[in-house]
Parts: sequence; structure tokens; C-alpha cells
Amino acid sequence: MTSPTVPAPGGVSEPFWEATRRGEFVMQRCGDCDRFVWYPRARCPHCWSESLIWTPMSGRATVYAVSVHRRSTAPHLADRAPYAVVLVDLDEGVRMMSAVLDGTPSVGDPLVLTWFDLDDGRKLPVFTTGEEERTA
Ligand SMILES: [Zn+2]
Repeated sequence: MTSPTVPAPGGVSEPFWEATRRGEFVMQRCGDCDRFVWYPRARCPHCWSESLIWTPMSGRATVYAVSVHRRSTAPHLADRAPYAVVLVDLDEGVRMMSAVLDGTPSVGDPLVLTWFDLDDGRKLPVFTTGEEERTA
């Protein structure tokens, strides 16, 4: 479901959202200083280069912080509460905010990427503890 809390695609974020339609998780990486850039931008915030290259990410992450939301302010996630809003450190060294919808992880737990489908065909990158796969 689309939601006012999900950014509309456009401008520099368009390639990110188009990749999510294919189930591909990409981020910009600077062609000059080699650092990752998150969220999508027109210039590298580290060296001001305009040479930003869309790069596939592993989808592996470690929990940096967790907050359990028992009531959602995000309409597209209202029926998924309670769920965990997380800050994760991707294996590539990028810290991003996301969510875990299938359990409550602890700081330091490993997570893997999964997708939450939006009504317009885009997908939100969220994470899973993998516990459902292990017990299924
Ligand atoms: Zn740079």
C-alpha cells in the first residue's frame, strides 16, 4: 500500500525505486572516494563528487538499535504492529533505518534483507531475523 510516510520516487531516488521493483537492493557508491552514499543524492556528501554509481548490496546486516512500535504511524504498516523499527549496519558499512516485521531482534543480531510490497509495485527494503525460515 502506498502511504504518505513512503517517499515518492523521483529525481535522484528514481533508480533506487526502479531497482526495488526488480527485487534488487542498490545504493550509490562514489566513483572518486569509493564510499557508499545513503540516502540517494546528486553529489557525494564526503567529497562532493557527482560520480555516483548504483551498486548492488549484499542485503546482510547487523542490528545497531531496536525500537518496538506497538502502534504504527505508518498507514502501510498499521496492521503489522507490533514490529521493530531498526537501525542496521549493512555489511558494506552503511547504517540505515528499516524495520523487522517477523520478530524482535536484539542489538548485534544478524539480519537479512527481505521486501515489503507497496501498492504501486515498488518494494520497501525490510529485514528478517530468518527465524521463520529456520522453523518452517
Ligand atoms: Zn566521494
